[in-house]
Amino acid sequence: MRKSNSTVLAQIGLFPLGSISSPITPAINATTFIVNNFKELLPIDNASLIAGSDETFAGLYYGGVDTPTTRHLANQVAKIERGRFTVLTPSGQSAIHLLLAAATKSGDHILVCDTVIYSTRWLLDQHFRALGVDVEYFEPQDAAVLSNRLRTNTKVVFWESPGAFTFELVDGNAVLEACKDHPAITVMDNTWAASTFHHPLEAGIDVALISLTKTHAASGGVSLGAIVTKDRNLFQRTKSIAALLGSHVGSDACASAIQSMSTLGARLSCQMATTSQAISVFTSMAGIKRVLHPTQPNGKGNLFVRDYDGFNSLVSVEFAWSLDETIQRLDCLKVIKVGYGWGGTISLVNHFDPSAWPSSKRLPLSGNCARFYFGLEDANDIESDLRTAFES
Ligand SMILES: *Cc1c(COP(=O)(O)O)cnc(C)c1O
Repeated sequence: MRKSNSTVLAQIGLFPLGSISSPITPAINATTFIVNNFKELLPIDNASLIAGSDETFAGLYYGGVDTPTTRHLANQVAKIERGRFTVLTPSGQSAIHLLLAAATKSGDHILVCDTVIYSTRWLLDQHFRALGVDVEYFEPQDAAVLSNRLRTNTKVVFWESPGAFTFELVDGNAVLEACKDHPAITVMDNTWAASTFHHPLEAGIDVALISLTKTHAASGGVSLGAIVTKDRNLFQRTKSIAALLGSHVGSDACASAIQSMSTLGARLSCQMATTSQAISVFTSMAGIKRVLHPTQPNGKGNLFVRDYDGFNSLVSVEFAWSLDETIQRLDCLKVIKVGYGWGGTISLVNHFDPSAWPSSKRLPLSGNCARFYFGLEDANDIESDLRTAFES
């Protein structure tokens, strides 16, 4: 039987208030906490920073760093991601930044799979390279032979799977096998799986990074990220860097994320059904040359079956029409809106040109593609929207 997070998610807002609980986590916006006497006033150091890592109220000393609300979200994210510790960050992007800031310095080498989202690439190419970190990209099929690329100064091996936009899979077990005699930490951007479909920390990967801004919290409209691990030392290092840089998260955003996450299980179930329906519509359409989704045959189907027990509602397609005709037809969509960002209740579409990306050469793909995100509208309304725009 599939181990689902739905029960934990439905009750994720339960928050202790003395001898009773509230089903809704309050946003405790204090930046100061008052203790009863000087003996109870904690020293400000790394020990106090991580002291309350599995409790909501223990170890708090300064509400700028953590509040019972931020602690509650951190603990719940650790639980559903099946890790032990979470550092919350203001965005997914800042989670990637903080982890790499804690794990690397000038002169170090990192290996990154080229399937990572463009914003991660920008951070690596424009910021970390400028700091003197040697960023080397590898292809998904290199996972099994990665030990050849590991150097004595390799500190991090980082990948995102399924990869952004084209959803290529990376064999995490093969990466782990290649890295098993090397001290480099293994880091996976696990945003796609919504802490539900895949649990990399259970497989032995050191760190899961998540943009909570997407499926977890988009219906609450907030930006947040998470660094999740089972490794106490790694947690301490990343939490210290977050505190040193003043990279804290607000209680209002965390309370909103928790509220949003309480419906995550139900949202994903509904969206999986809509996505299956949309994929079968796409595969029967003359104007659609190719459907990109991890469940679709792409030579890696068994990797998906091995590692995942469900899927999110991002689907990319390659069109057979000219670019002009494609854009005209996309503009006919009414239910599905044009916009950036995903994870909320509203279905979205974006045109993209992958022709300069490594994955486009591997698959291979033309420059005329779109990524759909299916939200919570009625699946039949979405289907007729697609048919009206693409079959008339
Ligand atoms: C959106 C996204 C990010 C960046 O997250 P933000 O919260 O928008 O900063 C990182 N990785 C993946 C896979 C994403 O989808």
